[in-house]
Amino acid sequence: MIEAYRLIAQRTDVPLHLGVTEAGTTKVGTIKSAVGIGTLLAEGIGDTIRVSLTDDPVKEVEVGKEILRSLSLAARNIELIACPTCGRLEVDLFGIMKQLEEKLQGVKKPIKIAVLGCVVNGPGEASEADIGIAAGKGVAILYRKGQIIKKVKEDEIVSTILEEVEKF
Ligand code: SF4
Repeated sequence: MIEAYRLIAQRTDVPLHLGVTEAGTTKVGTIKSAVGIGTLLAEGIGDTIRVSLTDDPVKEVEVGKEILRSLSLAARNIELIACPTCGRLEVDLFGIMKQLEEKLQGVKKPIKIAVLGCVVNGPGEASEADIGIAAGKGVAILYRKGQIIKKVKEDEIVSTILEEVEKF
């Protein structure tokens, strides 16, 4: 697919509609579409896109938008960043991120939120986001645009971030 579009792009100026045909189920199809469509868009090839998954069409649109946002070709709303986790992790980061992703779906504010799982590398990263959390054991520090705002308990991290988003 990538090679075919590269070849046709050399031969014509007509607008090109990018898509990975029969990409498959959500997990594999999302990755294939991101690689196929994303590679070409990053090279400046492509005018419209289509993501096709063996899933709800709403998911296809979400994946397509995310590909565009990742390349800064569409405005990002909420950007959720989390650390990859490691042995230093001190909170249930997967659970926190899952809740945030669900509750912030559809919020149309350009806010970068970073949630980091420990006090070693957390503060630096958290202070670079609009809203940041550097978690420790049972407690976390909330940052707003690099400033320390307050300490929050682990079970208040999600609600605290949601309040900050509301105020933003
Ligand atoms: S922020 Fe802490 S817990 Fe997360 S990956 Fe980095 S060192 Fe590990």
